[in-house]
Amino acid sequence: MELVIVGCSGSVSGPESAASSYLVQAPFQDRTFSLLLDIGPGALGALYRHLDPSEVDAIGLSHLHPDHCLDACAFYVTAKYSPGPGWNHTEIYGPPGTAQRLGRAYDVAPAHEGLVESGPGIARHFRYRDWQAAQQIGPFQVRTTRVDHPVETYAIRVEDTGPDGGSLVFSGDTGPCQSLVDLAVGADLLLVEAAFMEAPDNAPGLHLTGAQAAAAGAAAGAGAVMLTHIPPWHSGEQVLAEATPHFDGPLLLARPGDRWTIG
Ligand SMILES: [Zn+2]
Ligand SMILES: [Zn+2]
Repeated sequence: MELVIVGCSGSVSGPESAASSYLVQAPFQDRTFSLLLDIGPGALGALYRHLDPSEVDAIGLSHLHPDHCLDACAFYVTAKYSPGPGWNHTEIYGPPGTAQRLGRAYDVAPAHEGLVESGPGIARHFRYRDWQAAQQIGPFQVRTTRVDHPVETYAIRVEDTGPDGGSLVFSGDTGPCQSLVDLAVGADLLLVEAAFMEAPDNAPGLHLTGAQAAAAGAAAGAGAVMLTHIPPWHSGEQVLAEATPHFDGPLLLARPGDRWTIG
């Protein structure tokens, strides 16, 4: 399978990258299946560099913090108003309440004459699914586990069940937790947030430092670790330097537009 970094800026969009969004693609039934993990601010525009948004088969949301989901509104606008027949086939996986959360975010104009939007609205336009511990999404076996963050948040493991194989684990946002390590055991790539720098007053149960992210990859025996979700106010190179002593294998920084083959 292929991984494309659509956006990797942490907590907010950045000067060079959209916020959290990762495209995972693999062959499926004589075409390419496209699963998008998160769709944070700026991701919809960046997505156009890689495919037409109508080709996205499914979106998986790690959680409903704005930096991970708000461009679902832009995705909906594109589905509804861009030239052509429009589309509503996209499945959106997320925590319970995702449709309602996006409905509040979109918050269509009140029903003043002439301002009413036709159709069911974003909360019923797409096919919403609550995350299960395991589900098949196109060619991917997708497993999830709760991780340690102030709202209901899922780490997501994607395995290509087709002939190419490959396994990817995306951490979502999390503090250090065993459930992430358990989900990532033996994964080819752990795509893991590293939003914190080393500091004495980092809040617990929120984010990982580079060192903690790399240590999670080492504990899981991941084949490679890619650090992501680094906010614009931190230096990616410094986060990488803090991580380096804690993982022996390939250790990378996510960069927007990069494409990787996994498996
Ligand atoms: Zn975040
Ligand atoms: Zn978050």
